[in-house]
Amino acid sequence: MTELPLTGGCLCGAVRFEISEPLVSSRYCHCTRCQRRTGTAASPGGRIAPGSLRWLSGEERIKVWWPPEGWGKAFCSECGSHLFSQSPDEPERRSVRLGAIDGDPGIRPTARQFVANAAVWEPIPDDGLERFPGRAS
Ligand SMILES: [Zn+2]
Ligand SMILES: [Zn+2]
Repeated sequence: MTELPLTGGCLCGAVRFEISEPLVSSRYCHCTRCQRRTGTAASPGGRIAPGSLRWLSGEERIKVWWPPEGWGKAFCSECGSHLFSQSPDEPERRSVRLGAIDGDPGIRPTARQFVANAAVWEPIPDDGLERFPGRAS
């Protein structure tokens, strides 16, 4: 069992947070937005149980980019680290970027979504995870 709370933060260390409950679910996202914002082929995220996230420092450094539709993309305005995505309708619905977590996030991605938009330059790993052309259901 992973110890709770989970902790994490950004690259420069300004933003630190903790998550008091286990992550609910996890998946890789291969969408074009995730490719752009990360500079990589796919981004793994983990759904946070509502009410379980607490900021330890640097909350004022967090910037959120809101696309025309879809979830906001939260990052550290100092170092650019990707931290969360956030529902435009329900602020407590968030997914944390697994790379922002210290150590073991206690969950593993179980699906790959938006594989129809996958980068042509990196084959999708043959890892047996369920694949969705668009958003995973
Ligand atoms: Zn930072
Ligand atoms: Zn995505």
